[in-house]
Amino acid sequence: MNEHQQMITNIKSDILSLYVNSMDKCMMLDQYFEVLLAILHRHFNIHQCCVLVYEAEMLKPLTVDTAKNTGIPWVLFDTYFASGKVTEIPYFLHEQEHYSEMTHMMLLKVDKKPPYGILLFKATEQWKSFSSNEFTEDLVSVFASLAGATKELIDIRLKENQYRKLYNMTDLFHSTMDIDKILQNVLVTIKDNFPDLGVELILSNDQDRQTTIHIKPFDYLSERPSTIEAFVSGDVTTELATDLACRLLNAPIKGRQAIYGILQVSAPTTYIFSSAQKDFIRMLAQASGNALENAKLYHQSHRLISDLQLINETSHRLNMKLDIQEMLLFLQKQLMKSFQPMEICFLFKDENGLEITEASTALFSVPQGKVYIDYVQNHFENTQDPLFIADFSRLIAEDVIYKSIMAIPLIMEERITGFSIVLHREPYFFSFDSFKLMQSLIHHSSLAISNSILRNQLQDMVDRDHLTKLFARSYLDTFVEKSLLQDDSGMFMLIDIDNFKCVNDTYGHQVGDEVLVQIGAQLKKMIGTRGICARWGGEELSVYVPNILQHEALQMAQQIVGAIPQSTNPKVTISAGLITWNKSARLDFQSVFLYADTALYNAKHNGKNQVCMFDEKMQLQP
Ligand code: GH3
Ligand code: MG
Ligand code: MG
Repeated sequence: MNEHQQMITNIKSDILSLYVNSMDKCMMLDQYFEVLLAILHRHFNIHQCCVLVYEAEMLKPLTVDTAKNTGIPWVLFDTYFASGKVTEIPYFLHEQEHYSEMTHMMLLKVDKKPPYGILLFKATEQWKSFSSNEFTEDLVSVFASLAGATKELIDIRLKENQYRKLYNMTDLFHSTMDIDKILQNVLVTIKDNFPDLGVELILSNDQDRQTTIHIKPFDYLSERPSTIEAFVSGDVTTELATDLACRLLNAPIKGRQAIYGILQVSAPTTYIFSSAQKDFIRMLAQASGNALENAKLYHQSHRLISDLQLINETSHRLNMKLDIQEMLLFLQKQLMKSFQPMEICFLFKDENGLEITEASTALFSVPQGKVYIDYVQNHFENTQDPLFIADFSRLIAEDVIYKSIMAIPLIMEERITGFSIVLHREPYFFSFDSFKLMQSLIHHSSLAISNSILRNQLQDMVDRDHLTKLFARSYLDTFVEKSLLQDDSGMFMLIDIDNFKCVNDTYGHQVGDEVLVQIGAQLKKMIGTRGICARWGGEELSVYVPNILQHEALQMAQQIVGAIPQSTNPKVTISAGLITWNKSARLDFQSVFLYADTALYNAKHNGKNQVCMFDEKMQLQP
């Protein structure tokens, strides 16, 4: 064994113990190279040397502050290592102050793997003597293998460390549904790991949430292309942003269902993100994306549950056979509670146009409300789709006070029978979620409302005479019976058309019917809401007015008798029997009718076209 052979064996032995040591002591890369350089010193008396580490296509010094460090692009070295041996250092390195003393460099690289770095040193006499023999290549290969093995070991350790951090964080993420806490943690983790770098959260669709954390909303129009690319592709992107004088790394905050935003880390332009750092940031962003998604779904499901409860409670109440006004008032209360509109209305279409119900706020009964009603009504002329307007002022030329509008149609048997409108002054006040909720609420209520309308119509058909539209006899009976018990006084007037047979005989039954309708309309007009008018039967009609004194009752009856000839064509007259009562002498139900009939008989007997007030001296009709 010659001197050089002995030397290489000694070096190998030194290196082996270094490797074993590095495993035991968890040495970092710089500590490891320190020992390596000591070996060089011992065997070749080399004391000027340094290592450049290969990272992201660059070579950078081991120990210098990485945030301020300029790397040297690997491509510059490529040609120098064609032979894979120790070479003289290139001129551009020599020109740099740090490396001006160095004369040679050694590539640390195994097979086809990327290089681990290069070793720069100032050649000594001992080195020159050694490198002239055939063992140089052997030495380079031992150094390279060691560098490779050690670097991998250290990388694994670093990764393990990072994974532990990530693991702890995901653990936290999964234990919380607090979106702010998750985001806060992402920011803190980046700050802890990269104290010199800037960090920003750019989130889409986060406007609804109140938060104290600084979040930049994601804006498609103004975001940088590299940020948009990361958002759209779901991959990490980097960009040298010369306009901002920094290097940006965009990591998508990605869940299983969507990408929620970008975690953007900014570094000085000279900074190089290692692949391990990129991986760490990517995984951090992804972990936060999953956690965010979880939390969002959790909150969403809670909201869905409360929405369902609201819908359920509402339809339950509406199906309790409330009358239509009570129903709409209840619905109004629910809509107010859920969406906090400033104005609300429920409108129904009928043959006369639109009926503004009592469950509407005052705005809709004054001219200022017309613009909203007209717009919505016009919309529903062409479609049954509900209407969601975020900023009404953009759609209409005139000045409008209320910018946010939601309008939902009430649909009965596939026809729009009415609609509800809610308004707010602020543009973009209602969220799309509340629009969907309002739609569900109205949709689920519309059956109950339709039923109630149908019920009212049906009841009306039972209660009213279809020819004259006056109340039917059964309704009158109930009304009178109740009044006799509750009210202080009342009048009942029984009317019979004079010589009606003649009208029928002369003009036909149909004209006779028309006369009945004319008289009915006149009665309604004169009584209004004071009392009720009913068709007693055949050509006999009646009027009942509660809480009326005798003299007023007589006056009213006389006015009616006087008005009929003027309001009928062919002209007819009527006779009427009148009975009044008060609480000092309450009548029983049967007597009212019997007495009125008796009075009517007297009116006829006295020459018709007159009213006759019942008197106890009158002979009762059998
Ligand atoms: P009077 O002055 O005594 O009342 O004479 P009148 O001819 O009116 O006699 P009465 O009241 O007995 O006549 C009832 C007539 O009214 C019989 C019938 O032809 C007519 N009549 C009853 N109901 C209707 C109806 O619904 N439509 C029409 N067109 N005629 C009716
Ligand atoms: Mg009659
Ligand atoms: Mg008659």
